[in-house]
Amino acid sequence: MLGLLCARGYGITPDADLADVIIVNTCGFIDPAKKESIGAILDMAEKKNTGRCFALIVTGCLSERYRGAFSEELPEVDAVLGTGEYGRICDIVDRFVRKRGLPGRENGSESAESGAGVEEDAPRSIHESSAGQRLDHLNAPRVLTSGAGFVYIKIAEGCDNHCTYCVIPSIRGPYVSRPRADIIADAERASAGRDIEAVLIAQDTTRYGTAGPESLCGLLEELSRVERVRWIRLMYAYPDRMDDLLIRQFAANPKLLPYLDMPIQHASDSVLRAMGRRYGRADLYGLVNKLRRQAPGIVLRTTVMTGFPGESEEDFMGLLDFIADIKFERLGVFAYSREEGTPAAAMGGQVAKKVAQKRRAQLLRVQAAIMSQWESSLIGREYEAIVDSVLQRKPSRNGRNGAEYRVRTYADAPDIDGFVRVRAGDLGAGDFVRIKVTGRDSEGLLGELMT
Ligand code: SF4
Repeated sequence: MLGLLCARGYGITPDADLADVIIVNTCGFIDPAKKESIGAILDMAEKKNTGRCFALIVTGCLSERYRGAFSEELPEVDAVLGTGEYGRICDIVDRFVRKRGLPGRENGSESAESGAGVEEDAPRSIHESSAGQRLDHLNAPRVLTSGAGFVYIKIAEGCDNHCTYCVIPSIRGPYVSRPRADIIADAERASAGRDIEAVLIAQDTTRYGTAGPESLCGLLEELSRVERVRWIRLMYAYPDRMDDLLIRQFAANPKLLPYLDMPIQHASDSVLRAMGRRYGRADLYGLVNKLRRQAPGIVLRTTVMTGFPGESEEDFMGLLDFIADIKFERLGVFAYSREEGTPAAAMGGQVAKKVAQKRRAQLLRVQAAIMSQWESSLIGREYEAIVDSVLQRKPSRNGRNGAEYRVRTYADAPDIDGFVRVRAGDLGAGDFVRIKVTGRDSEGLLGELMT
């Protein structure tokens, strides 16, 4: 949307007090995200009284999920755009700008037609949009808001997995793979004139291409031929789609980082079955062993959920044992959120929130010990790393100038994992450097620059 608006000739500001039109991109996945989104909408609505804002537009998952309720419950909102309608953003903004008596930007740029043909009063739900329409916005010009060295590249939209606790398939629609040529073109544009880390995302990256002529392995191979794509990171893999060909890529493709984000959600067979996940505990053991055997040093990130309906104390202890045994290098733990409209919300055996939170805390304690041991094992090792940002600019104790930088190795996915703090001279965000891990403190790993 930022890219479309810029191409239309609008200026962008992150300062809501200075904005004429405010766009809130929401998340409606689980209850806490909904609350956060509604809080942001109400905060931004205030700017219509205190700032210069004359139009408030809400987009994203929450608006897709509750599009009907907005006019009644949040009258401060002037327009609502669902997840299949990003292409309409320029037309909607134009409409408010003209209504205000200001000149619109309809003819202001070469891509003024990008929103043309879309009827202003014909909102489309994601389920009424064609596959092409749902992918269109991914090919729009982009304004990159991620850090200097990495770029998120979306390879598919929607999800067909229908896990019983999840509303995403109803919000984002069925799975549709983005054409390989579009992904490669995106990576080429993003890496023009600089080296980048391409972070591949989708609701399920491992389903990529399974309904057509594409394949994830083919995509990874072609992407690795884009000269200035230096690292490729694969996120959101679904365990039962991690086949041998894909696992071999980690060893065979030098640009594919030995890092895998693979949410497993649980390790109890009965809970996994109730969740509608298509694997069991034994499959997970086999898969993790294979990954570690074929790609030594691979860093595995996963996510698990506590308090799913029917999760007994025994199920939970089984999960705890599994986590203690497998020792994932990275772990996210969420307490189950009962989402209206999902099969799990109607299941018997709902677990008290307090119990789910207690189990979550127990898992996090076990993981903290695993992390501490794993991080200590990294001390003394050398890595290629990417500079994320400057943390502090001040002379070091020995009086030398320089700054403390936050750098990431292959083990650190942007935004969710850790980083190594390195003191060095003049580095730029996005630079690739070599570092040695020298120690750790309460805030994480410390390192030094190798010359
Ligand atoms: S795979 Fe992820 S997005 Fe898809 S239904 Fe399951 S939890 Fe939701």
